Amino acid sequence: MPLLNNQTNKYHLRMSNVRVRFAPSPTGPLHIGGVRTALYNYLFAKKNGGTFILRIEDTDQTRYVPEAEEYIIKSLEWFGIKPEEGPGIGGDFGPYRQSERKDLYGQYVTDLIEKGHAYYCFDTSAELTTWREKNEAQKIYGVKYNHATRMEMRNSLSLSKEETDRLLKEGENVTVRLKIPTGRNIEFEDAVRGAVSFNSDELDDKIILKGDGMPTYHLANIVDDHLMEITHVIRGEEWLPSTAHHVLMYEMFGWTAPSFSHLPLILKPVGSGKLSKRDGAKFGFPVFPLEWHDKEEDKTYQGFKEDGFLPEAVTNFLSLLGWNPGTDEEMFSLEELIKAFDPSRIVKSGAKFDIDKARWFNQQYIIAKPNTELVDLLLPIATEKGFDVSEDFMLKFADLMKERAEVIPDFFTAGGFFFEMPTEIDQKMAKKKYKLENRPHFDALIESMEGMQQFTSSSLESVVKSYIADNELSFGAIMPILRLGACGTMKGPDLFETMELLGKDTVVSRMKESIEIFSALKKAQNG
Ligand code: GLU
Repeated sequence: MPLLNNQTNKYHLRMSNVRVRFAPSPTGPLHIGGVRTALYNYLFAKKNGGTFILRIEDTDQTRYVPEAEEYIIKSLEWFGIKPEEGPGIGGDFGPYRQSERKDLYGQYVTDLIEKGHAYYCFDTSAELTTWREKNEAQKIYGVKYNHATRMEMRNSLSLSKEETDRLLKEGENVTVRLKIPTGRNIEFEDAVRGAVSFNSDELDDKIILKGDGMPTYHLANIVDDHLMEITHVIRGEEWLPSTAHHVLMYEMFGWTAPSFSHLPLILKPVGSGKLSKRDGAKFGFPVFPLEWHDKEEDKTYQGFKEDGFLPEAVTNFLSLLGWNPGTDEEMFSLEELIKAFDPSRIVKSGAKFDIDKARWFNQQYIIAKPNTELVDLLLPIATEKGFDVSEDFMLKFADLMKERAEVIPDFFTAGGFFFEMPTEIDQKMAKKKYKLENRPHFDALIESMEGMQQFTSSSLESVVKSYIADNELSFGAIMPILRLGACGTMKGPDLFETMELLGKDTVVSRMKESIEIFSALKKAQNG
């Protein structure tokens, strides 16, 4: 068998040539919409035996936030969305941070200039502002630097060759813009939206190289997608208009464009428009995966993680924001999503963000989670709250409470009485259910409990039930008071199991104290 050279080897080792990338800009925390983009790319790659790549698009130095890249990586990690290539991971197509690729973009700019598809511009930002203001004064808003205006500006098309050379030598404020051809209908097929077309006369001559020598998103994105052999671009709908420029650039370079899929927007829960970080604050739900401290605002945003969501629940929820499996099935693990994911079922219309649905998913995943894994999450919280509890206690606690928690903190709000008697007991209920004449029965029941050898739910059940039967009492007269007396609230899991976990000493002392309180309340009520 002939030896394969490295190149062929690399090709054959790859299971398929599907290569997709998630290309966030580290300008802040990853929004939940970005996580969905990453997820769909990942699912598509895995489904097709392809490669999922993380590329950091950090060419905009003015908006660069140093902590953002680490945040993005940690967030993907939390969801179990693992890139095969990327910063810190490596791969044959690196570097994967655009700032580290800075030097390679120049040749592509030169290529476009030489082919007459791009030109140098010398307008300063002050000049551009004055130009815009002048137009606005004549009620021309949003004026574009394009075929209609480019000759009024200072660039290599409008200026003489000598002047251009002189300004290039000076080297200040030199940017490069695309020369968008006129009268073209730019058509491309979007895998989600079908045929999309743009009139080239409507497009602006976008800057591809900035004054600081950095490429803009448009250039770097195209060059890197080409060099990294990206086959499918799956990204948010907000990039759809730019795709017209991108398609033209592929043509200018003579490269084959990848397939495009533009994902629908994630909409606000109420009203219209895109879900924003302000909505999270307004409606009280997270829009970021992990906690983020915004230095500028000096404000910390809680993430899904800190709010007690499980990553597998969030991925399941996000998978269905803009995609459906074509069946009624809703529960999908990441593995199942890979199998079920069919990009032709991505929808065109925006998907409303519904936090209640996210909470529902979370509840399903909490219920399905093995108790030992829940304890890994719950025990540190209990310890932090200063509760001195054993792992065994927490295992039983998790088991009793898991059906009642939508998010992890619910274990402690709904089940706080497992750790300490609530300071505020449900007085209204106590007044309604407690009868002074039953006091001797409660005293007797407490005494029986005190005498029990084994304080198990089944023995408690038989002690209480036979007492009720022997004394011809009603369940309604006894059970609610036992629950209120031991837990301070009417809400909770099975009472006898709850009591068993609380333990004899706690139940007896809480009951003794509660009965005194209930009696006092009742006496006060009766006047
Ligand atoms: N850097 C762009 C962003 O922040 C990437 C868009 C694309 O995927 O092409 O979303």
